[in-house]
Amino acid sequence: MTLSDVQRQNIHQELQAQLMWRTSQLDDLKAQMEYEGADRQTALADLAATDRIIAEIGQSLQRLADGTYGVCLDCGAQVPFDRLKIRPLARFCMTCQLRNEMR
Ligand SMILES: [Zn+2]
Repeated sequence: MTLSDVQRQNIHQELQAQLMWRTSQLDDLKAQMEYEGADRQTALADLAATDRIIAEIGQSLQRLADGTYGVCLDCGAQVPFDRLKIRPLARFCMTCQLRNEMR
């Protein structure tokens, strides 16, 4: 079962919201780096993590645009909307996710 247009729009909005939030978080982190006595090690790690998430959101938006979004990268099954709604960056179905985690 593929996603309906409304569901795709829903995910799109969610991804856009996350992208905006993460982008402002990135700006905050960059600003923190400017402070005297800032914990640069932690800030740098946070920056890298935030950067990675922003890249993942971008990939999800790209996949949403080209119609491959929501398809499990492992087995090719459609990931249920209920799962994507909670975790829009999920790239695997529940079964494959659990199997990957157990490896
Ligand atoms: Zn799968």
